Amino acid sequence: MQYYSLNNNAPKVAFSEAVIKGLAPDRGLYFPESITPLPLSFFEDIEKLDNIEIAYQAIQQFVGDEIPEAELKDILSDVLSFEFPVVEVEENIGTLELFHGPTMAFKDVGARFMARCLGYFNRNSDNHVTVLVATSGDTGGAVANGFLGVKGVDVVILYPTGKVSDIQEKQLTTLGQNITALEVDGVFDDCQDMVKTAFLDSSITDHKQLTSANSINVARWLPQLFYFLFAYKQVKSKGKDVVFSVPSGNFGNICAGIVAHKLGLPVKHFVASTNVNDTVVRYLETSEYTPKPSKATISNAMDVGNPSNFIRIQNLFENNFEALKNDFSAYSFDDHQTRETMKKVFTNTGYITDPHGAVGYLGLKEYGVDNNDYGIFLETAHPVKFLDVVEETLNTSVEIPPQIQKVMNKEKKSIVINDYKELKEFLIK
Ligand SMILES: *Cc1c(COP(=O)(O)O)cnc(C)c1O
Repeated sequence: MQYYSLNNNAPKVAFSEAVIKGLAPDRGLYFPESITPLPLSFFEDIEKLDNIEIAYQAIQQFVGDEIPEAELKDILSDVLSFEFPVVEVEENIGTLELFHGPTMAFKDVGARFMARCLGYFNRNSDNHVTVLVATSGDTGGAVANGFLGVKGVDVVILYPTGKVSDIQEKQLTTLGQNITALEVDGVFDDCQDMVKTAFLDSSITDHKQLTSANSINVARWLPQLFYFLFAYKQVKSKGKDVVFSVPSGNFGNICAGIVAHKLGLPVKHFVASTNVNDTVVRYLETSEYTPKPSKATISNAMDVGNPSNFIRIQNLFENNFEALKNDFSAYSFDDHQTRETMKKVFTNTGYITDPHGAVGYLGLKEYGVDNNDYGIFLETAHPVKFLDVVEETLNTSVEIPPQIQKVMNKEKKSIVINDYKELKEFLIK
């Protein structure tokens, strides 16, 4: 499988090179040259397959022959060593809980897959790769955890000061070893811009092989398609049309869901649910794409003003605006609506949603799930990751799971940087 740049001005590369480079030299995102649907029998018999087999069948064409079957299956069984349950919240609505991994964020799967692929590619060499990543919250923790101790890889995480939750901050600043956290005086978009600039700065890249562990990296982005297959496997016997609502920030997760659909997964509709950072919602209304600086919200992992994966979604629909609108809707909700929903769901059903999950639930309601549909909203983080907001909104206490307890007492270590120049100095020192 070859990957080409969506800016169409860079050579095609194999999977390993796309993973090691992150972004193409022309600043474009890498995209698979083809997507071949899986046989119909794969979906008809999906209940009989275990998750590793499902994941292997789905990802194999994207990896190609660069990782042999046995090694790829080993990587997958390591990465997918926890549950992905669909929990029924009310009639015809379930939530796909993606928070049972080591950092309780859905990004664990992509981060761990990418880390193990890089580890595999580095297995016989002394090459060194620096993973540079911007986080609005959960990416940092998942990447730090996934890459901890991986041979030949240093990880540098940029996060906006004061805009991630305490637990998130602990998860990305306390591990040490090959992980460094840089605290940026700014918003997430500033962090993301600095990362993108660094990739193209030859005074850095002449000395260092940089790569990205944001969902622009194909090895972070593509494995997220597993979730949609795992969910389908669990709800298929209901015999209903499946609607997915995905709390979206950089739109990597939902984009991977659309890739699963291209592979043949039966999905009636995709709903992108966002907070007030509504660039895509406005695009669908006006057909004009006008990114705006991000605004801080209680669902901070989605505080993204210029979603980097949206261009991949447009590509999956062959840049056909009407075709996109047929299969895909986007809605935006503010913090007040999010809190009211968290309360309502808790009071009516006893289920605790985190702010991102609540936005996802709202998206399903706005789209309108009828009796022939089964709506699934993705719970992208455990409520404990947003402890203050959840406890104060619901007036209840959330039990802290052991994997979170472990980091709470560790000491934060970070380096404050104010601008790109300081990032550069740090990277070339
Ligand atoms: C990253 C994240 C999102 C957004 O996912 P994208 O793939 O960037 O759209 C949503 N919720 C949580 C909790 C996240 O960490």
